[in-house]
Amino acid sequence: MTTLINPADGRTIGDVPDTAAEDVAGAVQTAREAFEQWRDATPGERARVLLRLADLVEGDADELTRLEVEETGKPAAVFRDGELPFAIDNLRFFAGAARSLEGTGAGVLSKGYTSVLVRRPIGVVGSISPWNFPFIMAVWKAGPALAAGNAVVIKPAPRTPRTTLRLAELFTAAGAPDGLLQVVTGGADVGQALVTDPGVDMVSVTGSTETGRAVMRGAVDGLKRVHLELGGKAPALVFEDAALEDMAAGVVMGATYNTGQDCTAATRVYIDRSRYGEAVEALRDALSRVRPGDPWDEGADIGPLISAAHRDRVHGFVSRASGRIVWGGTPIDGPGFYYSPTLIADADQSSEIVQSEIFGPVLVAVPFDGEDEAVRLANDTPYGLASSVWSADVSRALRVSHRLDVGVTWVNDHLPIASEAPHGGVKGSGFGKDMSQEAVQEYSVTRHLMIKHAAPQARDSFRPA
Ligand code: NAD
Repeated sequence: MTTLINPADGRTIGDVPDTAAEDVAGAVQTAREAFEQWRDATPGERARVLLRLADLVEGDADELTRLEVEETGKPAAVFRDGELPFAIDNLRFFAGAARSLEGTGAGVLSKGYTSVLVRRPIGVVGSISPWNFPFIMAVWKAGPALAAGNAVVIKPAPRTPRTTLRLAELFTAAGAPDGLLQVVTGGADVGQALVTDPGVDMVSVTGSTETGRAVMRGAVDGLKRVHLELGGKAPALVFEDAALEDMAAGVVMGATYNTGQDCTAATRVYIDRSRYGEAVEALRDALSRVRPGDPWDEGADIGPLISAAHRDRVHGFVSRASGRIVWGGTPIDGPGFYYSPTLIADADQSSEIVQSEIFGPVLVAVPFDGEDEAVRLANDTPYGLASSVWSADVSRALRVSHRLDVGVTWVNDHLPIASEAPHGGVKGSGFGKDMSQEAVQEYSVTRHLMIKHAAPQARDSFRPA
């Protein structure tokens, strides 16, 4: 049993039973039976169910908002007017993508034979999601896998299971075969039971880099496909010709959105030394305008951190930090697990505050001398998910972005995403893409059918055509 706590006031919301590890196998078996039907559904049939699901989610906005806000403490307006419509757009995109899977081309690739390339689903996908964007992550995990014709057994994070459970109910109501999207609840043990279950053909996880390693290890014996969306420590590079006010507004939004509990959050801001003092001041001013508040207060920009333990962890990083605290740096008195938006200047590149994922509203500033050093510092962490470049010179912005080892670079902004664009990282941020046509393709395999259409002739099978 997991007791759910509202991070905005520390009160108990209710209990959710944990799935017993041995019951995970039953969920996988049910999903496999549903897969037998779904696998043979046409792309159009799959798309219609996903489109109906999107409509049902839209109609359920109030309930989904209540559940998500109670569990995460994020501002209701941010979820209702931003994340939820975005998740609905994702579902509609996946519905369309189901109908345009590449790899169905046919041709005469070898004389006398017609080749047909067929995309097939993989089978049962075991998905594991984090607590920072519970509903969107459930959609990103389940949506492309279902669009490609798979069944999904998903395990949400233990503190935030209810919008995922609701999504599964709505999916059945939308006309999906019973049990096609199963939810198992609990922590790492249930996650490992899912990853190692012999009936699971592929595992997909969004979580910390350490969890990614554990999931990959669990998938080794079964030689399962793995899809890993892991941690991040995004740099923002500010050149001397950047519009500093716009930069400060954008970087601070990038650093504090979802109280910094975002894998793509702007966390390290590297600033050309000639404008370092000015830029730090602009960042401090922008940070001082960010309003933590009750999630139901329409004026609140950010909510609390997810738990008391996580707040202590964030504060631990700040207390041990190199450099000087320019703004914030303290927990905010309860109720709730609030933390002040924080700016630390002159941090040492090799120190923990610069190298480790903090997952809180904490930004560090470091000066650089020249483009080469900016790129070197930006690439100098174990992660490679997101980044931004701030400059009025489009050639420089492009030149620099090509040298960054990351999955995404924004120019003169930080955070926006689109259903059509792949999301995922490199290095310690994992591999595999969420969203976009690429995500749907990753949940499928290509098969080659080679059909003889001409009279037999003597030939060597391996001779180039
Ligand atoms: P976490 O790694 O603690 O947990 C993620 C999920 O994995 C949870 O459901 C958890 O129960 C499960 N889990 C944990 N250990 C496991 C194990 N050994 N085996 C199987 N399952 C296990 O992460 P979190 O604290 O819930 O989320 C924050 C992390 O997620 C951050 O590192 C963040 O950067 C990352 N994240 C990445 C992306 C991305 O797209 N790259 C998006 C959102 C969050």
